[in-house]
Amino acid sequence: KAQETDASRYPEDAADVGLRPQSLADFTGQKASRENLSVFIEAAKARSEALDHVLLHGPPGLGKTTLAQIVSKELGVGFRATSGPVIQRSGDLAAILTNLQPRDVLFIDEIHRLQPAIEEVLYPAMEDFQLDLVIGEGPAARSVRIDLAPFTLVAATTRSGLLATPLRDRFGIPLRLVFYTPDELRQIVTRGAKKLGVHLTEDGAQEIAKRSRGTPRIAGRLLRRVRDFALVAKKEKIDQRLADAALSRLEVDSHGLDAMDRRYLRRIADHHRGGPVGVETLAAALAEARDTLEDVIEPYLIQEGLILRTSRGRMLGDPGWRYLGLTPPSHTQS
Ligand code: ADP
Repeated sequence: KAQETDASRYPEDAADVGLRPQSLADFTGQKASRENLSVFIEAAKARSEALDHVLLHGPPGLGKTTLAQIVSKELGVGFRATSGPVIQRSGDLAAILTNLQPRDVLFIDEIHRLQPAIEEVLYPAMEDFQLDLVIGEGPAARSVRIDLAPFTLVAATTRSGLLATPLRDRFGIPLRLVFYTPDELRQIVTRGAKKLGVHLTEDGAQEIAKRSRGTPRIAGRLLRRVRDFALVAKKEKIDQRLADAALSRLEVDSHGLDAMDRRYLRRIADHHRGGPVGVETLAAALAEARDTLEDVIEPYLIQEGLILRTSRGRMLGDPGWRYLGLTPPSHTQS
């Protein structure tokens, strides 16, 4: 049940449900979020109260769903998962809320895609553990108030800026997830290989980690693909050479950028002389949804300095020019 929404969106994650860390101590990286959570979890347990509501925001694949599950495990309470787009009517949300046991964790993925009318139902539920429902229609309609068990809402979103302020303000524990360092990813890949029973050398793990775009989901995906190459090539162990050859065939370059990243950067360089160019223009030219650019592609390129987000649009940063093997224009002028 717990993996339902997640696995349907990312079927590949279903393959490594067993790889998911099960406790905070098992969870690599996100030091700041992890330390905060562990204090608040301990305090909630000591008071026998529901943990305050938690908002996890950050790019896809960084561990939001995993952390939500860990929170419920650490609290020793039940876990129920749904997502913003799945909740169509306020009755759907009411049914979920009234079925929660005291102190349970309710995980709502993609909370920014919740309809405004349903958000309204959520406010009193989060604040006072109460549900205001209208029963019947027309003159016979009356509103009833239902008490709910105190619960913890753990919500995930790719960008907290997408949330209405009143909703965002109702989370006592907002946590921002950040991209993982190559070293953290190396630990994750090494652990994953052990669980999969794959012989991965230290430099092989390093190679996969370096090329995973700071993202555990991508690291897991690359590990499985490299394992396939090793199997077909009848190699017992995965070292750096094998990882490099496999990843190059998957068109993941030495920076970990894929074909889409390269198209994006090329577009700004070749058609807009390095920008600035509006995100809508880029989305149309690349035939990608604007949300995909903003949520999936850009965050990593920005963190690496390859592109800059300015008020006039996207621009290629110096590392972006260098990555493409070109000279930044400012340097040619002086
Ligand atoms: P999100 O909800 O942010 O999109 P998930 O929690 O679904 O991300 O994680 C995506 C994949 O990455 C899962 O397969 C999960 O097991 C793995 N993963 C995420 N964070 C970690 C971590 N810190 N250590 C090991 N694996 C992780």
